[in-house]
Amino acid sequence: MADLQSNIDTAAGHLARFANGTTAHLIAGEHRLSVSGETFANASPIDSMHLGDVAAGDAADIDAAARAAADAFPDWAAMPGAKRKALLHDVADLIEERAEQIAMVESVDTGQAMRFMSAAAVRGAANFRFFADQSPSAGDGQSLPTDTHVNYTTRNPIGPVGVITPWNTPFMLSTWKIAPALAAGCTVVHKPAEWSPFTAQLLAETALDAGLPPGVLNVVHGLGETAGKSLTEHQAIKAIAFVGESSTGSMIQAQGAPTLKRVHFELGGKNPVIVFDDADLERAMDAVIFMIYSLNGERCTSSSRVLVHASIYDEFTAKLAERIKTIPVGHPLDPSTVIGPLVHPRHCEKVASYLDRAVEEGATVHRGTPYADAQSTNFVEPALFTGATNAMSIAQEEIFGPVLTAVPFSDETQAVSIANDIDYGLAGYLWTGDVGRAHRVAQALDAGMIWVNSQNVRHLPTPFGGTKASGIGRDGGDWSFDFYMETKNISIALGDHSIPKLDA
Ligand code: NAD
Repeated sequence: MADLQSNIDTAAGHLARFANGTTAHLIAGEHRLSVSGETFANASPIDSMHLGDVAAGDAADIDAAARAAADAFPDWAAMPGAKRKALLHDVADLIEERAEQIAMVESVDTGQAMRFMSAAAVRGAANFRFFADQSPSAGDGQSLPTDTHVNYTTRNPIGPVGVITPWNTPFMLSTWKIAPALAAGCTVVHKPAEWSPFTAQLLAETALDAGLPPGVLNVVHGLGETAGKSLTEHQAIKAIAFVGESSTGSMIQAQGAPTLKRVHFELGGKNPVIVFDDADLERAMDAVIFMIYSLNGERCTSSSRVLVHASIYDEFTAKLAERIKTIPVGHPLDPSTVIGPLVHPRHCEKVASYLDRAVEEGATVHRGTPYADAQSTNFVEPALFTGATNAMSIAQEEIFGPVLTAVPFSDETQAVSIANDIDYGLAGYLWTGDVGRAHRVAQALDAGMIWVNSQNVRHLPTPFGGTKASGIGRDGGDWSFDFYMETKNISIALGDHSIPKLDA
């Protein structure tokens, strides 16, 4: 396996193009600078190095992209599903060819460790393949006959759609939202996060190079309050698929109301992992560690609250505190690194503020081992809060870093009540050796996705999404198509059924 220095050299080659000139929007198959000429700077979280300038879009650029998507829509929607399927597989092939470039650019842009980003790039291709395969049947409906009528449903793509994504694992997340939209026959305007814009550019260029017609996938870079807001307000855009913070989702719903936007939201989480004393504690501990300290803890489905049976709380958390000391924090391009720098100094400040808050609230803070060669203040070693209660802000608020809050519970009823006593409801994890308890607790947890005796293992046909402040709607499998398509019912009389006569 390549070492750190050779990865740094290779990554520099991949990043050179972003440093040489401004990264432009991709609209109607053309690289275009902002109408206003405005740009914003993109820096690496590793060493604050300037990676390049990026076009800062606003309403004018969004309008151009929305028009391009609207122009491309009729032909793309009318294309036979089998042809769309073939084209989207071509996109997946090219993503796989460029996987190293995508992973390295993502790693330097976000601070996420290469060991996870290599897999994320490949998973992006898998997302394209999965939804591509369903393109030919996406419009299929149901037959709902009566004695007098044949009823059948069809599905048609809703139109040009907007996709707005966050900065954590941006490539994989973008493919997860964009691939089903394209497979359904929609055209897309993508507004990626301003803190990690580069791999969205690579995705759109890869799709174009693979043969996707110009205008089918457009990218407009820029800030949320300008480019993002304009996208949610544009008349030609029929739906917004959004991944990000709950408070932003709320703003988008208000912004989209005048044009009656259909919305799909994947929002924040503060997911519990419940460890009962009858569980396989070794496996449970591995999963607890993986689900909060991988991907820098910047993961919506991270298990950021561990609820531990009181009888094993002290022993379990003491072992956890020991084990986090050996989690390698370091340069994200180093193959041995688990935790890289957090994405942005502002995000680091937020995460650090909870370390202070934990002390103020009366919890005990355990820390991992810092990165000795840190070249910026974005490197944060893993943290564990013990002696916490569920009422503390460290148990209630999404911190989105490598930070875990441990709360004890006395019995099953209390475990469920603590787990559900939260504004969020994205995912829940539970560990037990009792099959009846596994079902009881899984059914009682108020969250969109539950894993029993498992970390988050995704299966693309299953529904993904959250309850409460964690989201609106589901995607994955056919749920994605339901969002991006309109269902139509067609009713045909079989013969001479009765028709009321209203005249005398
Ligand atoms: P964010 O809400 O700040 O930003 C997300 C995107 O929205 C960015 O592209 C941003 O520019 C844009 N935006 C901001 N204001 C906007 C506005 N008024 N109108 C339109 N667009 C606007 O989120 P973030 O900080 O980038 O990402 C972290 C959050 O994302 C966390 O809360 C995390 O849990 C969540 N997330 C959820 C999932 C999920 O599947 N549920 C997955 C990943 C991340």
